[in-house]
Amino acid sequence: MSMTKPKDNQTLPLGVLLKRELSTEKTPEKPDIIHAQANQSKKGEDFTFLKTECERVPGDGSTTFAVFAIFDGHNGPAAAIYAKENLLNNVLGAIPSDLCRDEWITALPRALVSAFVKTDKDFQAKAQKSGTTATFVIIDGMVVTVASVGDSLCILESAEGSIYCLSADHRLETNEEEVERVTASGGEVGRLNTGGGTSFGPLRCWPGGLCLSRSIGDMDVGEFIVPVPHVKQVKLSSAGGRLIISSDGVWDALTFEQALSCCRGLPPDAAASQVVKEAVQGKGLRDDTTCIVVDILPPEKPTPSQNPKKPGKGVFKIFRKKSSESSSHADNDSPESEFVEEIFEDGSAMLSQRLDTEYPLCNMFKLFTCAVCQLDMKPGEGISVHEGSSHPRKVRPWDGPFLCSSCQGKKEKMEGKGSSKDSSSQGRRKSE
Ligand SMILES: [Zn+2]
Repeated sequence: MSMTKPKDNQTLPLGVLLKRELSTEKTPEKPDIIHAQANQSKKGEDFTFLKTECERVPGDGSTTFAVFAIFDGHNGPAAAIYAKENLLNNVLGAIPSDLCRDEWITALPRALVSAFVKTDKDFQAKAQKSGTTATFVIIDGMVVTVASVGDSLCILESAEGSIYCLSADHRLETNEEEVERVTASGGEVGRLNTGGGTSFGPLRCWPGGLCLSRSIGDMDVGEFIVPVPHVKQVKLSSAGGRLIISSDGVWDALTFEQALSCCRGLPPDAAASQVVKEAVQGKGLRDDTTCIVVDILPPEKPTPSQNPKKPGKGVFKIFRKKSSESSSHADNDSPESEFVEEIFEDGSAMLSQRLDTEYPLCNMFKLFTCAVCQLDMKPGEGISVHEGSSHPRKVRPWDGPFLCSSCQGKKEKMEGKGSSKDSSSQGRRKSE
């Protein structure tokens, strides 16, 4: 704890230094964040987490950030409750405490990966069977960071009227890339079979029969159902925008456009209720249906009538999906993102990529601490996250960051290593 870190700039990459220079010019003003939630429960497995007064530096009120999250549990509520109670602490535990704001924001995506995996691992150690989606949204100034596993989604309508999806949909049914990953790691993907050769229902993964390719918990399905989150980070214009974070009960009934337009102009509390009402009245209450609405408003201007855009004016935009092996940094000013700036996106399930040494702020992470569970290790005890990696980039086993043996074991299982499925899995895949 008392180990002093160089506060000067010797160990920082140039990019960080430049960013730091720029950011000291003008400390961004805090937006007003107004939020509300609504829920209609069928199974009692949706849980939310709403906290607006978190502090990057404990005790320093100028370092506040806000967190909004939805956990949609399955096979019981235990995993959802566990994630709700532990995820934020695990995120904060993965970030060194002495970072300035810009460094903190840059460190977030990687800390979120560590925290999701740690939360999953710790929960599985309790030997409970349930699992959960997690859509975890952190708002610091105008920067919105969303980490997600599963099919609860977070969408954004910018004040300029553009619509963005900030999370990935990890349903096997709609995510071909994930079907490929799961199959390659030893899982089998198929539909339920009536026996007469007719199959029905959504694509599921076996063993376990889960419709999702990523979740927290779920110890009775294959380890290839991973907790590694898709992370997306954007910066809103100073005019702000509205977030809608909802479980699949909403998205099964409403398109993004419908969800936004049915509540446009309403304050968050009425808006959240309206979204849930619209979703339920369309299809009936068939699932837990939960909605959080967050308005991010420019400071000072006292309540400009929220989102004055006319219905139908919104231009639907999806950030181009990169291949799962790539991450992006917002250096290119594509005309699409002229108001909302894309800062970061990575959805790879490979820890060796997500905890890469080339990752922003690699130097901020401690050499003798497990990059996932933050356990202290003796020198030489850690195993490079690149060990056994099939990553095309040349890596050396002494390159950090390092994992403890337990986390390394989990990583191998998640990537399908050491499974005995070997060559037979290909034949099986064809026969589906
Ligand atoms: Zn560990």
